[in-house]
Amino acid sequence: MAKPACYSVKAFSATAATAPLAAATIERRSPRATDVQIQIQYCGVCHSDLHFARNEWHFTQYPAVPGHEIVGKVTATGKGVKKFKVGDTVGVGCLVDSCRTCPECRAGLEQFCNGMVMTYGSTDPILGGGTLGGYSQSIVVTEDFVLRLPANLDPAAAAPLLCAGITTYSPLRHWKVGKGQKVGIVGLGGLGHMGVKFAKAFGAHVVLFTTSTGKVADGKRLGAHEVVISKDEAQMAAHAGSFDFILDTVSANHDLNAYFNLLKRDGNLTLVGAPEQPLPVAAFPLIMRRRSFSGSLIGGLPETQEMLDFCGKHKITCDIEMIRMDQINTAYERMLKSDVKYRFVIDMASLK
Ligand code: NAP
Ligand code: ZN
Ligand code: ZN
Repeated sequence: MAKPACYSVKAFSATAATAPLAAATIERRSPRATDVQIQIQYCGVCHSDLHFARNEWHFTQYPAVPGHEIVGKVTATGKGVKKFKVGDTVGVGCLVDSCRTCPECRAGLEQFCNGMVMTYGSTDPILGGGTLGGYSQSIVVTEDFVLRLPANLDPAAAAPLLCAGITTYSPLRHWKVGKGQKVGIVGLGGLGHMGVKFAKAFGAHVVLFTTSTGKVADGKRLGAHEVVISKDEAQMAAHAGSFDFILDTVSANHDLNAYFNLLKRDGNLTLVGAPEQPLPVAAFPLIMRRRSFSGSLIGGLPETQEMLDFCGKHKITCDIEMIRMDQINTAYERMLKSDVKYRFVIDMASLK
């Protein structure tokens, strides 16, 4: 098969699990009939980018270009593109394609499709090799996986909605979080701070659990009604058996069982954090009150657009710290120290 027409763009990539990210040149396919070409203006820095660049999930193909919180301007469209035109501000999240025909795709839950193509971390069905993410100047995506950004949102502060936003919005909606419920959010990082904002917007009584004593005031400013320092056993015990729902966004090893004990009868804890190592689950905290434990993965395309529109309507964006592309390795080190308030976003104009 002939190699499709391509063009070169600048990017930042890792060449091995232990190598820092560095400047590289990568190839993008020239737009085909249903493709949208996007000049990337901003890309959020998700903790998944770090897990992936360092092969902590054991499926990374190198060179690895992370980045799946992409916002940019449309610079070209294929002949068949109907929804977008040159100049539109658009978003791309964690998915760039799927099979389109399986029950998951037909339900708008493309994230659970066996044939889903992730923005990075999949095999590129057109070019071969690994898919290459948003730490780059431009990307080409089939129009069904491109999202419309509400015009009233700051594009840089909206970029992390494409992963941190949908990953917290989706389970809070699935578990019908709302008025009259007591809801816990564990971890105040990129995902956690959006979990707090959405749970508050949905009308719940929101309790933030943090290991960082310095984040209490921010937790309240972001919308938490109460903040619990999770290392303090007395503070944890005061909430025993009282939560309807807990969303756990922690990126590293921690004790899940301490949180199961805080759920009411039939309460649920949903894990979205994806630590490298397995987390031990004890039987008794779950069986005592018919509590349940589940997971959730980003969200499908229809729900991601719904989330963006909700954010436009309610003026919700992320609290960000803008960085240059060449600051990415320092940003990763700060992320590992839980020192990010509350999402790094790369100004892609800095990639020259
Ligand atoms: P992040 O910004 O680094 O935030 C993680 C937070 O977890 C930290 O700010 C910290 O909050 C807390 N934390 C870190 N180490 C901890 C430890 N040892 N014990 C207890 N708490 C700790 O990361 P993120 O971008 O929000 O991502 C969080 C996790 O979700 C990552 O594993 C990521 O890969 C995963 N993820 C999953 C999905 C999905 O679809 N399921 C999507 C995106 C990301 P405090 O300082 O408040 O304690
Ligand atoms: Zn992510
Ligand atoms: Zn499918």
